[in-house]
Amino acid sequence: QFQLFRIIGSTNDEAAKRIASSQQSGVVCIAEMQEAGRGRRGRAWLSPVGANFYGSVAWIYGQGFAVVEGLSLAVGVAVIEALADLGVQGLSLKWPNDILWHGQKLGGVLIEMTGEVDGSCQVVLGLGINVKLPLHYRQQIEQPVADIYSILGQDINRQQLTAKLIEALVSLLAEYEQTGFAPWQQRWLQYDAFANQQVKILGLTPVIEGIARGIDERGALLVQTTDGRIITIHGGEVSLRQS
Ligand code: ATP
Repeated sequence: QFQLFRIIGSTNDEAAKRIASSQQSGVVCIAEMQEAGRGRRGRAWLSPVGANFYGSVAWIYGQGFAVVEGLSLAVGVAVIEALADLGVQGLSLKWPNDILWHGQKLGGVLIEMTGEVDGSCQVVLGLGINVKLPLHYRQQIEQPVADIYSILGQDINRQQLTAKLIEALVSLLAEYEQTGFAPWQQRWLQYDAFANQQVKILGLTPVIEGIARGIDERGALLVQTTDGRIITIHGGEVSLRQS
């Protein structure tokens, strides 16, 4: 089922509500504006009315939460490849959930799960992409941001964009329970914005610093510390920064 809203709180919340009642995979919710768009850990995702893309797709999986390991990374790859088909080039990925253009944030992925940890669960995949973000909104965001309009130097066809993104997300979710992250690993590494750069990981005590060495086959981040050890960092409540 496909729902298009002009204004909504959050497309993820709406998709979660709908799949909870329908119990059928393939719920798609898109909005022109979100009043309470959010990123990870409840941080706000600025979602003004107009030309940005806010959409969520919900799916039911039978094998518990572990099945979505690496999913937000695979979404990043799928989105980059979909946008490349529309002429938006030069994008990269920041582990675990950001889509960048020359270090500026173009979009983000938010994955939320409900249900049984080891059994039937609902996965809601949210995507926000800046299409044409007015300057005064950009100024409210505390990190550099990009939009498709400034990358292309012209407007993109929004129907085409929406169709392309939804198609990419639906086919990814339809296959992911079988494939897992493994087939996405090499593609993700091609887009790794922080490859071989000095980084620090916030959210762990003590803070880990080292050189980013890509990801493993499950999508965990690999960081080489000064003593040469490789530390494996799984998603969750951590953030990657250049140091
Ligand atoms: P992390 O590295 O932990 O993912 P993050 O800053 O990327 O950190 P997210 O939860 O992914 O965190 O996204 C929320 C953040 O994204 C906000 O705190 C804000 O800095 C930024 N942000 C909010 N709205 C937008 C937007 N429309 N475009 C780009 N960035 C945004």
